[in-house]
Amino acid sequence: MAGRNMDPKKNPMPVQPPQERRRNFSEVALGYTSEQAASEAARCLRCKNKPCVEGCPVRIDIPAFLERAAQQDFSGAYEVISQSSSLPAVCGRVCPQETQCEARCVRGIKGEPVGIGRVERFAADWRAAHGAEAAVPAVAGEKAPRVAVIGSGPAGLSCAGELAKNGCAVTVYEALHTPGGVLVYGIPEFRLPKEIVRREIGALEELGVTVVTNAVAGRSFTIDELLEEYRAVFVGSGAGLPRFMGIPGENLKGVYSANEFLTRVNLMKAYEEGSPTPIQRPRRAVVVGGGNVAMDAARCALRLGAEEVSVVYRRSMEELPARAEEVEHAQEEGIVFRLLRNPVEIFGDQDGWAASVKCARMELGEPDASGRRRPVEVPGAFEEVPADCVIMAIGTSPNPLLTGTTPGLETQRWGGIVADETGRTSRKGVYAGGDAVTGAATVILAMGAGKTAAQAILEDLGRGVL
Ligand SMILES: Cc1cc2nc3c(=O)[nH]c(=O)nc-3n(C[C@H](O)[C@H](O)[C@H](O)COP(=O)(O)OP(=O)(O)OC[C@H]3O[C@@H](n4cnc5c(N)ncnc54)[C@H](O)[C@@H]3O)c2cc1C
Repeated sequence: MAGRNMDPKKNPMPVQPPQERRRNFSEVALGYTSEQAASEAARCLRCKNKPCVEGCPVRIDIPAFLERAAQQDFSGAYEVISQSSSLPAVCGRVCPQETQCEARCVRGIKGEPVGIGRVERFAADWRAAHGAEAAVPAVAGEKAPRVAVIGSGPAGLSCAGELAKNGCAVTVYEALHTPGGVLVYGIPEFRLPKEIVRREIGALEELGVTVVTNAVAGRSFTIDELLEEYRAVFVGSGAGLPRFMGIPGENLKGVYSANEFLTRVNLMKAYEEGSPTPIQRPRRAVVVGGGNVAMDAARCALRLGAEEVSVVYRRSMEELPARAEEVEHAQEEGIVFRLLRNPVEIFGDQDGWAASVKCARMELGEPDASGRRRPVEVPGAFEEVPADCVIMAIGTSPNPLLTGTTPGLETQRWGGIVADETGRTSRKGVYAGGDAVTGAATVILAMGAGKTAAQAILEDLGRGVL
């Protein structure tokens, strides 16, 4: 066993300096060296009851992979991770570890928890750099059951992977021209390089999965039509329909939903010279919301050249739901946090462009149903923030296109598909998981749901799980 590292602090993650990175789209976190990864892994105490594993939605055997990494056996570490997770390079970068595995780490009691995500990322990158073994060739024979997957985000991809590994002939239908879901159109290049997502999708294609893009289920074809050709259909269509506040001025030019703004920037590369995507480079941007989406939108606006970018959030820093690391990075880059503020109107100029946002001052009252203290308006207290670009990042819901064209598919009042914990829906042969069922959540939960639904599909098809 490698010697234990009792340093109370994590090995710091090398990052691009804030003054440089605030104007480029290259990855912010540069990743550990092999020595740093091994040294961080050696901080693990190998607890017998493994509380960190309980905190991981896909139950990666964390102490086992850290032990291998501590011995510089990164290939072995990767093997352990990939038994439970199909996207380790993605999860190592974007999982909210501080509220999951790392929140349960015993080292966190008297110091900082083990940087589990950082070591996971290193193992996945090491494996890619040192030539991953070719994927096991597809085992789907001529008589293999055909399964359709709608949506190519983490839920659809992990469902497809699990089914393909177990001998199904899988076709993934994706509405956009590029597969990957939020991983390509939402999360920016500087947090998750798109090459990594392409690599993961390439590995699935090697397994025999067919990906069809520009295919909008509910419009180009219906689920019922798919069921004539396929034995089962998994719906992993996410929750991409943006919400707006319903305040005056939201129809002005320069006001975007975060999804539209991020899609133009990330998928359509609006930041590149000569990009065909129309986007007005902001001078002063206001982003409304406090989640990961808001942080991403704010940091993209800054990288497009904005002089000032503010995040307007109606609660305080303590309730801000974004990942701690992203908030810290945003602050270092100079994003202004206007907390306890809530927009009530957007004013425009004579050409119909946004010019400023009127915000009400808020204070925190009694806890609401979510357990968080409810923000209430301070009577008569307002402030105006100049802004030629306003980005609404206040949440999304599932698009009703699919559910509206599938009779008998039960939905929640807010639009989510009703599925049990196995992913089975009210329609025989139709399964669902990820944001389409839970509403906006996380990559790892969507992946877990895709995998669980694949196991239910295999069971209903009378096939064992490998
Ligand atoms: C900007 C942003 C940042 C985020 N940051 C993080 C983070 O740091 N960490 C984290 O864990 N989570 C993060 N999340 C949340 C996470 O990305 C999602 O929870 C996760 O991607 C959900 O996966 P999914 O497969 O259910 O849906 P999605 O990733 O949304 O994929 C759904 C796919 O289905 C396609 N689709 C939709 N309708 C149809 C149709 N009718 N026909 C065919 N295809 C269709 C969509 O085009 C999309 O490609 C972030 C989300 C956003 C928007």
